[in-house]
Amino acid sequence: MRLFDSHAHLDFPQYKDDRVALLSEMRAQRVAALNVGADLPSSKASVELSCANTHVLAACGVHPHEAKDYTPQVEAELVDLLRGEAVAVGECGLDFYRDLSPRAAQGRAFRAQLRLARRLDLPVILHQRDAWEEFLEVLRDEGPVRGVVHAFSGDAAAAKQVVELGLHMGIGGPLTYPKNAQLREAVRSVPLERLLVETDAPYLPPQVFRGKRNDPLKVRLVVTELAQLRRIPPEELAEISWHNACALLGVEPSF
Ligand SMILES: [Zn+2]
Repeated sequence: MRLFDSHAHLDFPQYKDDRVALLSEMRAQRVAALNVGADLPSSKASVELSCANTHVLAACGVHPHEAKDYTPQVEAELVDLLRGEAVAVGECGLDFYRDLSPRAAQGRAFRAQLRLARRLDLPVILHQRDAWEEFLEVLRDEGPVRGVVHAFSGDAAAAKQVVELGLHMGIGGPLTYPKNAQLREAVRSVPLERLLVETDAPYLPPQVFRGKRNDPLKVRLVVTELAQLRRIPPEELAEISWHNACALLGVEPSF
C-alpha cells in the first residue's frame, strides 16, 4: 500500500535530529509527501528536500502568519522556485485566529499568490482559519484555481462550498478526534475524487498520538479512519487519495 501525505513540514526544526532516518523510513513504508513552504527560507528548504528525495515533492509560498513579509523581492524568489523544482504554490490563505500578520497584508499576499498560481498554471495549497467567509470571497473574486483546502475542518455546508469551487480538501489527524463528529459527517458527503489525506506534521497528530510530534508515517491512521467512514477498504482509499494528489500536482513521486 502506498500513501501520499499531501501536507507536511519536514524542513521544520522538530526533525533536526532524525530527518534522514524519517525520510528513509517513509521510503521503506512507501509514504510520499508534499513538503509545504511557510515562508521563503522554508520554501527553499522544501525544494532542497524534494531534490534529494524522489518521494518528496515541494510547494513554495508564504503562510498568512508571514504575510507581512510578502514583498516583490520575496515573490521574485518564489517565482524562481516555482519555475524550477516546486510543484505547487503555498501554503497561502487567511488566518484570523492568530492574526500574526495584519489582515490587510494577509489579503494582499493571498491574492498575489493566487495570481501567481494562475500565471504559472500551478495548484495552490490553501490555509484557512477563522476566516471562512472572507476566504471564500477572495477565492470567488480571484477566479478559478486548482487546489486543496488543507486541514479542512468545516461542516457539510462548507464541504459543499469547497466542492463547488472546484477545490479538493485535505483531511488530517483531527478526523480521528472524538469531538469531531461534524467533520466526519462532512467528509461522508464529498466526492471521493476530491479528498486528499495529510498530516500537517509536525502538527495535528491523530488521536492516539495527541500531544506528540506528528510525522507523515501517521497518515496511515487518517486513511484507516476515512476508509471506515466511506465504507471502502483502506487499500482502496489509499490508492484513490494517491491518485487524487498526483493528478492535482501533475506529478507522481517514486520510492
Ligand atoms: Zn501547514
